[in-house]
Amino acid sequence: MNAPVPPPQRSRKLIKGATGDWEVVIGMEIHAQVTSQAKLFSGASTEFGGEPNSHVSFVDAAMPGMLPVINEECVRQAIRTGLGLRAKINLKSTFDRKNYFYPDLPQGYQISQYKSPIVGEGEVTVDMPDGETIRVGIERLHLEQDAGKSIHDLHPSMSFVDLNRSGVALMEIVSKPDMRSAEEAKAYVAKLRTILRYLGTCDGDMEKGNLRADVNVSVRRPGEPFGTRCEIKNVNSIRFIGQAIEYEARRQIGILEDGGTIDQETRLFDPVKGETRSMRSKEEAHDYRYFPDPDLLPLEVDQAYVDELARNLPELPDAKKARFIADYGLSPYDAGVLVAERASADFFEAVAKGRDGKTAANWVINELFGRLNREGHGIEDSPVSADQLGAIIDLIGEGTISGKIAKDLFEIVWTEGGNPREIVEKRGMKQVTDTGAIEAAIDQVIAAHPDKVEQVKAKPTLLGWFVGQVMKATGGKANPQAANELLKARLDI
Ligand code: ADP
Ligand code: MG
Repeated sequence: MNAPVPPPQRSRKLIKGATGDWEVVIGMEIHAQVTSQAKLFSGASTEFGGEPNSHVSFVDAAMPGMLPVINEECVRQAIRTGLGLRAKINLKSTFDRKNYFYPDLPQGYQISQYKSPIVGEGEVTVDMPDGETIRVGIERLHLEQDAGKSIHDLHPSMSFVDLNRSGVALMEIVSKPDMRSAEEAKAYVAKLRTILRYLGTCDGDMEKGNLRADVNVSVRRPGEPFGTRCEIKNVNSIRFIGQAIEYEARRQIGILEDGGTIDQETRLFDPVKGETRSMRSKEEAHDYRYFPDPDLLPLEVDQAYVDELARNLPELPDAKKARFIADYGLSPYDAGVLVAERASADFFEAVAKGRDGKTAANWVINELFGRLNREGHGIEDSPVSADQLGAIIDLIGEGTISGKIAKDLFEIVWTEGGNPREIVEKRGMKQVTDTGAIEAAIDQVIAAHPDKVEQVKAKPTLLGWFVGQVMKATGGKANPQAANELLKARLDI
């Protein structure tokens, strides 16, 4: 793999304005819901989609006198995530109260980590489609509670509140302002999501709001100091993140080129209009009056515990990709496609075991993924199993079927299932390597096309046409190599 390129040396992706070039600068705060059975400070279930207010303990409802108790599993998951982000794990961290009023926040404050987060600086490497590898710094990761949900559209004059999500553990993962284009920002979120899913610390389901991004955007002339940023809150799809950045960068450039200045403000992205609009300015920003939560002791973990978690991390996408390139001779692009989901990587390895890696990758990526995508299937419910695909590849490898017939066979296995070898046997799909049968087909073709036989002497590229005809005459079953050789001899070229 290429060495990651830090932002200053990176190839610049500039935006053309009316008065010259601009560079966009992006930093992100990602909220990722921790995968755990219970909430951060209570035993209530984190299950999605329950009846409103059915997963609410007295702690989550902020009944007077209730005391939060830290959920060790959430701490474990946060540390594992920190390790996956190659970050510093802080053996001592503290929980603070972030005070604000909102109907879906019964405590009147959110328990979060302010000055001492559980995870410090780390980094994520991101492979861009053009082959460049960039590095995005992680500033910190801290644990905090999610809020409940206000529901305004069920009654003409009243609002309701659902506290099921209240108190669910979130990891806020703050990046450094290291991204320089919407493409880089999208690729960063995709990579972060992949890492979290490999670790099993967040399911990354953006549709359910389990992963959402606050996107900070500023623009500057290349080489100038950072400009004033705007923060676009709660963007919940990778595509919208890209659109919001494109729009916001253009908006800021327009203001600056007209001689204006950017107000630091919080904005919202409207996916229908494709625009960002102001939510509140910095002057209206809250003073959260953070202070250490007196109900919670500082959180202390020992190094041996962290080391133990580090030893037991799964192989992560960067390492898996490097191994696929080294062990199976895959291109970085193919390896990248295969490791994007752990289930895809596992499927590929099951197919590639004891077979040619490149052939296995071709079949998995081009035939299988292509087909799965068209039909809206995930790899988990692929109608063709790794064993079946492996058997098809073996049949080609040993010369029993041609590549063309293999595609027909794949189609049969996809729709009807079954053992590929038996299907070939039963349906007479075997490749014809018997020269007698191929020669008979050649005789036929030559007899039917005397004109082409004349032309091929002057134009040897016509040989391909003859091979095609022989394949057709044998129903695609002639060994193309043999047909090619025999035709050359017969046509004397
Ligand atoms: P705050 O303390 O106000 O939340 P931070 O320094 O924590 O601000 O930054 C919040 C996020 O904004 C981080 O992800 C950071 O990378 C990003 N950020 C900071 N400055 C800029 C800037 N000039 N342009 C774009 N993003 C920025
Ligand atoms: Mg911040």
